[in-house]
Amino acid sequence: MEIAEWLSEAVRRNGDWAQRFGSFEPDDSLRVDETLLEQALVELADRLEDNYPFFHPRYIGQMLKPPHPVAVTGYLAAMLVNPNNHALDGGPATAAMEVEAVEALADMFGLRRHLGHLTSSGTIANLEALFVARQSHPGKAIAFSDQAHYTHGRMCHLLGVEGTPLPSDSLGRIDLEAASALAQRGGIGTLVLTAGTTGLGAVDRIDEAMALKDRYGLRIHVDAAYGGFHSILAHDEALARELRIDPAPWRAIAGCDSVVVDPHKHGLQPYGCGAVIFMDPAVARHYAHDSPYTYYTSSGVQHLGEISLECSRAGAAAAALWLTLRLFPLSADGLGRVLAKGRRGALSWAEMLAGSDTLALYQQPELDILTFFPVGGGETLSMSSIDSASARLFESAMSPAERAIYLSLYRVRADELGRRHRGVVQDADESRIIRSVLMKPESATMVGTLHERLQDLARGATDDRGGSP
Ligand SMILES: *Cc1c(COP(=O)(O)O)cnc(C)c1O
Repeated sequence: MEIAEWLSEAVRRNGDWAQRFGSFEPDDSLRVDETLLEQALVELADRLEDNYPFFHPRYIGQMLKPPHPVAVTGYLAAMLVNPNNHALDGGPATAAMEVEAVEALADMFGLRRHLGHLTSSGTIANLEALFVARQSHPGKAIAFSDQAHYTHGRMCHLLGVEGTPLPSDSLGRIDLEAASALAQRGGIGTLVLTAGTTGLGAVDRIDEAMALKDRYGLRIHVDAAYGGFHSILAHDEALARELRIDPAPWRAIAGCDSVVVDPHKHGLQPYGCGAVIFMDPAVARHYAHDSPYTYYTSSGVQHLGEISLECSRAGAAAAALWLTLRLFPLSADGLGRVLAKGRRGALSWAEMLAGSDTLALYQQPELDILTFFPVGGGETLSMSSIDSASARLFESAMSPAERAIYLSLYRVRADELGRRHRGVVQDADESRIIRSVLMKPESATMVGTLHERLQDLARGATDDRGGSP
């Protein structure tokens, strides 16, 4: 069955349900002119063509891909009702689905107890985690690495908390010695760790940070917005071995205080789906508030609105995730198969890059994000030559459309690049390099072709062979 049929089935079922309440005439003011609609739709479709082909295997630039058709169907089915997951009255069915979906996420991280909910994004999910961190360690700073998502600095500013950036090592992981020194001086209450940084996909040593939690009473928040679903691979012994994933940091998440994961990144969902999970359900007290609007269906059940900073939220997002999890459970043979492909692709591409004389691997990938740069024909490499060669490759790879490879550019500092590649002339403070995210299994299985084409382009060859998918 195709998506169009699934969607019409969802519309049909909604119509059947609506019929039970008796029919009525929609008001005249809401009627539309069919010809006008037709024209407007044509215009919309035309305007939507102004997009990069996120769906295509050769789009490997940013963390973008369309949702799975199953998620679209789940979203549409619920959107026709438009439940609001703020309160139970707003949508009992989708509120229950949200509870079940969040339970599945908590299970994936190996949590024994939890309190969590969906959010509209990773940003809001992290804001909530940092808000609770501020409430439980008042007056103390929040530290995060220079590789952490920039949202942490911004959210600290928003919360009126001091945010302290820490250096990272040559794999892009937080420098725990610096964290320890800072904690010893008593300045910080919370340490933010990242499981899969947005830039490099680096995984902080969450396992090693646990000692700091015990020694200094630090609160530890894990930002796994991007990487979270890789927990599935890490928790499967055979897969972790095959895919060279160290399970230790992932297993340690269960001993932290909060974790954030974005189903709208690696969970096959449309935008509008993040999640924050707290390991101690008692943090609900920080959300306590009085609402003048009466809830008429509370019966000892916690309203999602009582444990969330956001008020109105799409119940459809919960339905979409719930339906997706029915078909792609958070196990090695469910969603794990999708993620394993990306990781396998990253490993084999890293190997090709390590053996290439035209492209150099910036650092070993820990997840499915690759970073590399052109090395040219034997001339001495400098920050500025890497920068311009990367920009050229990025541009030239984007045409012609039927063979285009969409990459992204990533800025690195001279000290960061110098630590990984000695001998590069430091004639500029920064350089752009190439970054590629293998989020789609179809991309991951064609890395050989992608690599060949990029090598040709990097050599400056005018490649007219064509025929690549
Ligand atoms: C994407 C991302 C965020 C921000 O999440 P949004 O859903 O884009 O708001 C935060 N942290 C990390 C590590 C991310 O990858």
